[in-house]
Amino acid sequence: MDTAIARQRLEEMRGELDKSITVLQGEQTAGQAGTDSPQDPADVGTNLSETDRVQAMLAAARQQLRAVLDAILRIDHGTYGTCADCGGPIPEGRLDARPEAARCVKCQGKRDRGR
Ligand SMILES: [Zn+2]
Repeated sequence: MDTAIARQRLEEMRGELDKSITVLQGEQTAGQAGTDSPQDPADVGTNLSETDRVQAMLAAARQQLRAVLDAILRIDHGTYGTCADCGGPIPEGRLDARPEAARCVKCQGKRDRGR
């Protein structure tokens, strides 16, 4: 995989994630502000799940952003495309689908199961 192309894609992903995080943070603040104001008790449940949803999306976006930033660092260090666990090469097809991937499919699978 050409790291120049990977970097470009990662920078684009970083820009998108930055935007989503800003929007989600705005929604989160709006949701929190809303809990102080008097409201119909019937709406409380809806607002709570909405806040939970925003928080879950925010957490996922931040995690993704961290993965993207890590991948950009790996390009800087010349270790991009190398599995962080076994040191083997990450297949190009995987990097094409997920430019931020830090591990080969096998090691990522092990890690996901370990959770
Ligand atoms: Zn591996």
